[in-house]
Amino acid sequence: AKRRGGMRHEIFDAQMRERLVDRLRIENELRTAVERDELRLEYQPIVGLRAARIVGVEALVRWQHPRLGLIGPDRFVDIAEESGLIRTVGAWVLRHAAAQAAAWRGDGHGPPLELAVNLSARQLSRPDALVETVTDALRDSGLPPGLLALEITESALVDDGDEEAAEAALARLRALGVRLVLDDFGTGYASLAQLKRLRFDAIKVDRSFVASLGRADEGEDALLVAAIIHMATALGLTVVAEGVESPRQLRRLSALRCAQGQGYHFARPLEPGMLRELLAADPPAA
Ligand code: C2E
Ligand code: CA
Ligand code: CA
Ligand code: CA
Repeated sequence: AKRRGGMRHEIFDAQMRERLVDRLRIENELRTAVERDELRLEYQPIVGLRAARIVGVEALVRWQHPRLGLIGPDRFVDIAEESGLIRTVGAWVLRHAAAQAAAWRGDGHGPPLELAVNLSARQLSRPDALVETVTDALRDSGLPPGLLALEITESALVDDGDEEAAEAALARLRALGVRLVLDDFGTGYASLAQLKRLRFDAIKVDRSFVASLGRADEGEDALLVAAIIHMATALGLTVVAEGVESPRQLRRLSALRCAQGQGYHFARPLEPGMLRELLAADPPAA
């Protein structure tokens, strides 16, 4: 048994080593990915549930990797954060997404289209650089600050332990006139009162809560979602439900007066050309 255990250990080591090598390789390649123009953005519609219209889009980064093909953020955003490369990637995302959103504006899509961009904790921990990046992206694109929403997760607010620094960074972003959105709400410990104090404009209810809505066993999740929507709305926060995948979930959310939704039921993240077509087909408000 001892021998077999040893072998398992070796296999484990080999797997660990392989994973580490993979990671280091991806980190190295990511360093040049921006210069080589390998990053891409897809845009997922955010829908106003009352009027059933697209009110915004979330920019989601992808990497057209020369060997691995198109890979998603789950494969490289963590690595980018740990290595600090996320600031370069983040700046690229902001610049390109802002330019794209400004171009769609020029196309004359009816109501103003809001652009949501994800920020990482590492970006928030360098407020000077971040404020400059956001300012540059707005100036160069001509996108009005009020149409840019920055999505921040709860962990980004507290992980570094320095909540005051994070709060100061948020205040400086606010001063630019952009909107602040708390991402993945419900997966951490932020309270709605706290978000109101930090002057967040909106929360995105994590899709794990939305998943069971409308099912026979929806139980406590549904109560929780109902309470969150009710309280957040009363506090003047816009509520966005993430991961809406079925008509049933949509009906439940509408009944709960949830303002906005996002998810495969409406559309998957799309290439810019596809999103443009969708915007063109989005029926005008009645
Ligand atoms: P997120 O910000 O919570 O983004 C939503 C994720 O859920 C996206 O995954 C999206 O494709 C996926 N999604 C949308 N609708 C549905 C649905 O109905 N069902 C399910 N199961 N999933 C849905 P994606 O694009 O793989 O992004 C994963 C995460 O990577 C994002 O989660 C975000 O945390 C991070 N990320 C993406 N782009 C960026 C970026 O530019 N900067 C940073 N810092 N992080 C990013
Ligand atoms: Ca997000
Ligand atoms: Ca989210
Ligand atoms: Ca998430």
